[in-house]
Amino acid sequence: MPVKPIAIYGDPVLKAMCMELDFKKHSEIIQSVCRDMVDTLAHVGGQGLAAPQIGVPVRIIVLHPEFFPGRPKDSVMINPTIRSSGSLRDVKEEGCLSIPGVREYITRPTWCKVNFFDRNGQGRVVAASSALARCIQHEVDHLNGVLLLDYVSRGRQKQAAKRMKQISKRAA
Ligand SMILES: [Zn+2]
Repeated sequence: MPVKPIAIYGDPVLKAMCMELDFKKHSEIIQSVCRDMVDTLAHVGGQGLAAPQIGVPVRIIVLHPEFFPGRPKDSVMINPTIRSSGSLRDVKEEGCLSIPGVREYITRPTWCKVNFFDRNGQGRVVAASSALARCIQHEVDHLNGVLLLDYVSRGRQKQAAKRMKQISKRAA
C-alpha cells in the first residue's frame, strides 16, 4: 500500500501554490496521487488530506469517506474551486496532520459550494455545511500554500513552532 510520509510544518512544499491538473496530460499522475492520498488518509486517520501534505504540489484533496456516505466518488476532489461561501461564519478548533500537537480556533464561513473533478474527470459540485464545509476550506487552503497558522497571531505562531520543536525532539 503506497502510504506516504506526511510533510511537516517548515517543509517548503506546504507553502507552494499547487499546480492545476489536466486530465489529458496528467492522467497517470492523477490516478497514482489519488491512490496514495486515499491510502495515506486511511492509514493516518483524519478528516482530510491535501496533495502537498504528501509532498506533491498539485491540486488534489481527499476527504474522509464518512462525509459522503453512498457517494464515495465525491471524497476525492481534483482542481477543487470554492465558488461561493456563506456570509455566516463560526469559530471552531482545527488541527492539521502537518502541524501535529497544535490546535487553533479558526473563523470560517459555515457553508460553501465547491466545483471539482472526480477521478474519472467528471465535473461535479458539492454544497457543504458545518464540518464538511470547514474541512473543504482547510484542504483547499493547503493548495494555495495557506496553513491554519497563517490565520493566528505572531505570538500563537511562535508558540506553535516551539511546541512542534519539543515534539520532534521527543520523537528523535
Ligand atoms: Zn491541514
